Amino acid sequence: MISDKARFKAAKKLEKIVGYRVPGFAFKGQFLEAVCASLDYQRLDRRLKQQLMNFMKAFLNCKCKTNPLCGCAERKFASEILELRISGMNHRQISEFLLDEYGLSVFPADILSYLEESVHVLEAVKDVSLIEGKNDLAELSAGTILSIEG
Ligand SMILES: [Zn+2]
Repeated sequence: MISDKARFKAAKKLEKIVGYRVPGFAFKGQFLEAVCASLDYQRLDRRLKQQLMNFMKAFLNCKCKTNPLCGCAERKFASEILELRISGMNHRQISEFLLDEYGLSVFPADILSYLEESVHVLEAVKDVSLIEGKNDLAELSAGTILSIEG
């Protein structure tokens, strides 16, 4: 999953502030819990706090009982990347955006291969939909493929 590739760049800094181990990978349970716990810290600088707040708002805003460990964060992150691509950003711009907005570092090459995988999945969906006569779904998949491929 693409969320497995996302590192929180300021993890070491956050670790010093909160006083316990913070894993570098942003979608690990321990990290998600650390984020939820650390938002109250006065010692976070403005930028770090803003990035953590953006992260919470974008990925951790579900109402599941097991939040933040319910899996929604990973799914939302994956769809955020697709949405950014569809809005016209290339994989390098997406990588820059994620770093700026959420403090997340993801290699452009990883984003590119994720986008390619998504296209393959959509192509399979399109083929199956056509076989099953679900033309709306087939059209939707075809349209999404086009917007991802740009
Ligand atoms: Zn959830």
